Amino acid sequence: MRQKIVAGNWKMNCDIAQTYELLDALKENELNDDIVVMVAPPFTNLQSANQALIDSTILVAAQNMHQSANGAFTGEVSASMLRSVGVETVILGHSERRAYFYEDNALLAKKVTAALENKMTAIYCFGEELEDRKTGKHLDLVERQLKEGLFHIAIGDWKQIILAYEPVWAIGTGETASPEQAQEMHAFIRKIVAKSYSEEIANKVSILYGGSVKPNNASEIFGKPDVDGGLIGGAALDAESFMAIVNAF
Ligand code: PEP
Repeated sequence: MRQKIVAGNWKMNCDIAQTYELLDALKENELNDDIVVMVAPPFTNLQSANQALIDSTILVAAQNMHQSANGAFTGEVSASMLRSVGVETVILGHSERRAYFYEDNALLAKKVTAALENKMTAIYCFGEELEDRKTGKHLDLVERQLKEGLFHIAIGDWKQIILAYEPVWAIGTGETASPEQAQEMHAFIRKIVAKSYSEEIANKVSILYGGSVKPNNASEIFGKPDVDGGLIGGAALDAESFMAIVNAF
């Protein structure tokens, strides 16, 4: 059975005190063993978050990393640096990274490779803009984001990949894709993974949906057969909302 996953992307929110407060509130909840729960705080709080969660099954992920091992890249953090503070998962290609920091598929392919080389799990994000959907280009665009950014990896590396389909028009807007739109895209994603790799890999990879998932819509979205969980932004900053989403399966 595919792994069910709910990951909270905190973005540039929560200083250290707020990080401890939110983690303490999350830790008060009993977690279902069948669901992997992750939080992705800012870089500055990763090590503290990992220590705070030492007696919890909640995992800590980073929101980004540089593709190089080290060097003159002011302001950047490498995969091995993340590993050195106990972080084994990284979100790559979030739409905000693509839009505000000009990360394209070619750059993301290098980041994916660096993550895999460092034995990290990569949550590879992709998704179309509203204009792409309106003009019927959304399927082609998603296929390109996958092929150019991810499909260079070896068959054996798929166990370190989680996919996150996040239509840009649904991120932070309060407008979510309908469960049917999410299902249609997730089934399409599985089809192109099967075509380029194998049915087995396509059936094993977890595909998360992201874009204004809230406690009141999570169940319906997670209920679709090809949706294996969610990447959650705004609602991940409130322990009660995040836990309601975790428990929405
Ligand atoms: C995200 O940032 O990945 C996201 C899905 O944000 P939100 O849930 O706020 O739309």
